[in-house]
Amino acid sequence: MKVTCHCGNIQITASYTPNEVANCNCSICRRYSASWAYYSPKDVEVLFTKEKSVFYIWGDEEVEFHRCNLCGCITHYITTPKCDKEITAINMRMAECSILDNIPVRKIDGAIY
Ligand SMILES: [Zn+2]
Repeated sequence: MKVTCHCGNIQITASYTPNEVANCNCSICRRYSASWAYYSPKDVEVLFTKEKSVFYIWGDEEVEFHRCNLCGCITHYITTPKCDKEITAINMRMAECSILDNIPVRKIDGAIY
């Protein structure tokens, strides 16, 4: 499965299509309006054509939220060594509708964060 940001600079390939996506209502996910698919980092490849992604990190600094520096789309997040899990999450809003529309959505109540 492959997704891209709007301008095509950031290209993400995952070794399989997710069974579900997660919509979280925490302070950052609700602002990004992201739909996350969680992967082991080894199952995901992130490439760029013009500029590498830039990221935002906050709070306990366990997660880097990456975006395209050209078109601004939030493409993925990765966990940092401060996190006890290794996760790469793809923002499935970058996927074509034909993919995203067929994946069930799970709501996560992360609002305490
Ligand atoms: Zn872009």
